[in-house]
Amino acid sequence: MKLINQTATSRGPAEIFTGDVYFDTIARGEGVSHIRVNSVRFTPCARTAWHSHSLGQTLHVTDGFGIVATRDTVIVMRPGDTVHTPPGEEHWHGALPDHFMTHLAMWEDDDATWGDLVTDQEYEAAVGS
Ligand code: MN
Repeated sequence: MKLINQTATSRGPAEIFTGDVYFDTIARGEGVSHIRVNSVRFTPCARTAWHSHSLGQTLHVTDGFGIVATRDTVIVMRPGDTVHTPPGEEHWHGALPDHFMTHLAMWEDDDATWGDLVTDQEYEAAVGS
């Protein structure tokens, strides 16, 4: 076994995140392993853009409070909650307006398909629902 050197924290790019989001790489498979695990920290109101994952994604909240939304469903996520989005389902995830939120994002090395940024109107509608 070996202790993995921690990589530097990266800032989520403005093209696919609204607000301040930071992530750390926890695991990245090599060879036949395609595992990807990031710890992603959202500041209040920060969120991803609309996107989908070709092989799906599992989110596990480690701190704070957030939401994950599809086109027709909103789930409030609390510490310890785990949410799975199936392959190809459009969704976004982020922090509530008055809380930070950190989740582990677990997926396989694939091409996420990124769409539009989540508008303030879409965000407020999801938070208020
Ligand atoms: Mn996702």
